[in-house]
Amino acid sequence: MTEKQNNRPISRRKFLKTSTLVVTGGAIAYGAVSVPLLRRNRRLLRPPGALDEDVFLASCIKCGQCLQVCPPQVIKLAGISQGFGIGTPYIIPREGACILCSGLPCVLACPTGALAHELSLGKDAEMGLAVISGPDTCLSVRGVNDLVYRLKNLHKKSTSSPDQTELKNILSSLIKRLTADEKKAWQNKFSVPEISDKTLLTILQQLMNSDLKWVINFTEFSSQARNACQVCLEECPIKDEKTIVFVDRTHPDTGQDYLWPSVRKTCVGCGVCEEKCPTPVASITITPRLKWSEKQAGNQIRKNSQT
Ligand code: SF4
Ligand code: SF4
Ligand code: SF4
Repeated sequence: MTEKQNNRPISRRKFLKTSTLVVTGGAIAYGAVSVPLLRRNRRLLRPPGALDEDVFLASCIKCGQCLQVCPPQVIKLAGISQGFGIGTPYIIPREGACILCSGLPCVLACPTGALAHELSLGKDAEMGLAVISGPDTCLSVRGVNDLVYRLKNLHKKSTSSPDQTELKNILSSLIKRLTADEKKAWQNKFSVPEISDKTLLTILQQLMNSDLKWVINFTEFSSQARNACQVCLEECPIKDEKTIVFVDRTHPDTGQDYLWPSVRKTCVGCGVCEEKCPTPVASITITPRLKWSEKQAGNQIRKNSQT
């Protein structure tokens, strides 16, 4: 190669190629550093028993054992978009909550104790705390029954062929809540000696497909439809200790009475209420790692700043 060739000015194409590579590389490096930095304070909902976040990050070896043994398969492994702790386990409750399954297999499977082995009962987990994040959308606050609400939504979306899975779920919940007298009335109506929940479900499903409006009316007039939504409490896996109480309140502007779902300190933050809440955006959500004492302290600070 001659000296002239060596000193040849860099071509326009080569210059553009090199600049593009430099800019792309810079952007990737910036993203790799800045995303974790920007999101390092974002709290992820960890599986039950997770040690304090800093200790957890240092102890978890990202083996994924917890994820493999989780029966409902709700544990995910964090990617770069989650910030610090790539490869560590976390849960998105709205997509699938921890059901605090018997024996806490995720805890048992953890080889390092990043999910503390001392935890043996779901009711003692401290994953976070449920908070009423959408008081304006909460059906209880609005005095709306959840099944009627879901049926009407189904009707609005499609009158010709309603979503069969959603339909079956609604009707199963409805049947579970019917009183013995209401079931008896069905038995007489169809002149059958006995009506099982399964038969009733089949009958209602057939009716629903031919006349959705009729089933909406039937649901609206059943005794359970007089009650506003309490799905978060009904679905909560902590059964023995009331995690949510519905408190009577009166709206200061309208003077109307309503029931306010108030979360108690027995809540462990599993996220089942967030997953099952029937409003399009969950009206109850989990703040990971939040402890009851922390919440009370926050309330006190807010109260003081208002006085
Ligand atoms: S306790 Fe929760 S996270 Fe752990 S295995 Fe069971 S469902 Fe999964
Ligand atoms: S599930 Fe609970 S938070 Fe959600 S709408 Fe019903 S009462 Fe409100
Ligand atoms: S209220 Fe119940 S379902 Fe909701 S997070 Fe707390 S323990 Fe879980």
